[in-house]
Amino acid sequence: MSDTLKNNLALVTGASKGIGRAICVELANAGYRVIINYRSDEAGAAETLALVKNSGSDGRVVQFDVTDHNATQDAIEQIIKADGAIDTLINNAGITADGLFIMMPRKDWDKVIETSLNGFYNVTRPVLEKMIRLKRGSIISIASIAGLVGNRGQANYAAAKAGLIAASRSVATEVARLGIRVNVVAPGLIDTEMIKDAPVDNIKTLIPMARIGQPAEVARVVRFLCSDDASYVTGQVLSVNGGMF
Ligand code: NDP
Repeated sequence: MSDTLKNNLALVTGASKGIGRAICVELANAGYRVIINYRSDEAGAAETLALVKNSGSDGRVVQFDVTDHNATQDAIEQIIKADGAIDTLINNAGITADGLFIMMPRKDWDKVIETSLNGFYNVTRPVLEKMIRLKRGSIISIASIAGLVGNRGQANYAAAKAGLIAASRSVATEVARLGIRVNVVAPGLIDTEMIKDAPVDNIKTLIPMARIGQPAEVARVVRFLCSDDASYVTGQVLSVNGGMF
């Protein structure tokens, strides 16, 4: 494949379900070709691909674990060779391992940081290298309200997401002159598997809109930030949280 940038090839990490899947569908509806990354849920990723194709666009599924630096680097090189340069990157893969800080085993601290923060490094650096050569690109990372205000029982997660925000803002300043925009979306409580054990009824009382959000409501904001409608927006954090903060 030549260096010529084909229009709008998006890589979405953690897209076998939840918010990542909704982002793939939203981008497919907007005409993007979509590379659907997953870690373990092959069937879920295949379902996302079917939805992308139903939207009249195209894409494919690529398995890699964003915490594995070498595997991620290899996978991204392969994607660029086979599909062309990635001009839109959505760092969405994330996990939780909640618990009070005083009780938190080191492995739970590490695995959450490894995924959201080190994953950002592993995925973004090789993609950005190519974007810089082409002087075009948009990078959106999915953080969390926890990364802005902290959250009881989520010191690891809040730290990872706060780091993701700071890293994104820093990279944004480094590449702004090269035509590359870097932004963050910070959702509140969104209806996915990630919150299946959360006390949703209690939390709802803290949400001014008195409901949790839907993955598509995050995806639409991501699509806006990727698009030329957001051509003068970089280094920003956009909250999607029903007015929580
Ligand atoms: P889900 O648990 O529904 O989905 C998580 C996705 O991330 C899955 O596709 C999973 O892949 C993937 N993933 C996890 N670890 C890795 C890894 N190491 N490498 C590659 N993929 C990985 O979560 P959500 O859709 O709710 O969350 C998506 C993002 O939004 C996360 O970053 C999360 O922190 C953030 N967020 C979510 C909120 C919510 O209320 N739901 C609120 C605020 C932020 P697989 O299943 O294949 O293993």
